[in-house]
Amino acid sequence: MLVTYFRVLEKENNVLLLFLYVLSGLFFVSFLIMGWMSGSIFILVRDIIFGLTGGGILIALAYIISGQDWIMSQMYKLEESNVKKGYITCPECEKKYEAERNSCPYCAYRPKGR
Ligand SMILES: [Zn+2]
Repeated sequence: MLVTYFRVLEKENNVLLLFLYVLSGLFFVSFLIMGWMSGSIFILVRDIIFGLTGGGILIALAYIISGQDWIMSQMYKLEESNVKKGYITCPECEKKYEAERNSCPYCAYRPKGR
């Protein structure tokens, strides 16, 4: 469990994410302790279920956040690769295509001097 926490910290480098994981752990442990202190097996079972549900929701939230980060980073990479490749806008049909091409792949327009 602790290893997972450190992996998340290392991989995502996201304080909020780590906070959510730690919070879910604390949530579960506090319910476990409360159930244990009550001395009743029914309250203990009920508190474990509460703890697991609450902790599970927090972990799910952390997953959603990390998923969004991943999507954002992928989109950023895509944008970056487009810039690197050097896209130009066709003056004839106004569509974007790679600058390396001699002519527009959509309307076959050939820029002057090529
Ligand atoms: Zn064109």
